[in-house]
Amino acid sequence: MPPLIYFYCNQCDIYLTNKEVPNHRDKYKNHNLEKIFTDKQRVKLSKLLSFMLRHNPQSMGIHLMDNGLTEESLDEIITIIKKNRNHFEWLSKQKIRTLVEIDKKGRFEIINNRIRARYGHSIPRIKIDLKEKNLPNELFHGTNLRSYEKIRREGLKPMGRNLVHLTSSLKDAKIVGTRHRGQLKILKINVKNAINEGYKIWRAGKNVFVSNYIPSKYIRELN
Ligand SMILES: [Zn+2]
Repeated sequence: MPPLIYFYCNQCDIYLTNKEVPNHRDKYKNHNLEKIFTDKQRVKLSKLLSFMLRHNPQSMGIHLMDNGLTEESLDEIITIIKKNRNHFEWLSKQKIRTLVEIDKKGRFEIINNRIRARYGHSIPRIKIDLKEKNLPNELFHGTNLRSYEKIRREGLKPMGRNLVHLTSSLKDAKIVGTRHRGQLKILKINVKNAINEGYKIWRAGKNVFVSNYIPSKYIRELN
């Protein structure tokens, strides 16, 4: 089997693996696909971040606040990693962001240019409140009619990426939705009900939120 490599499509705002690339290039000839990292690099970065952010920040000269976030900014973290570890010349902020977004287990999160592990710490003073505070009451997801039919039956599941992406910005949802062919559909997610009934949604960026699954009963078509 050829090695797994992750790509990012700027126009679609999705991550693709090298297996999906030929199909995407066929369908959208003018889309610009950018190589992010190999799966080997992803695993290596994930292991290093887990070690640093869960167990042993001091070995790298990194400091964690009681909420698990690094005192150092992402830019500083990158500089520290490159200085202390070999074979991370390729590391960038975009690559760390990609790792956080595609991670199947939601291991990490970035808040205000700082990163933390969401669980698994061996440092007693660190307390992570996994219930995301300050979630908006509703979030949006832009898609097309065809996908909407599927979402109505099966709920929102990760497609080309490993987590479902939601946004607090109606404008962003429209932009994402119009990147797909076919009739635009904007979906509205009832965040409060989903969270109260145990589904997980967490912040991945300023307007970006991620989830591993949103059942269709929390999803309405916005019109
Ligand atoms: Zn694309």
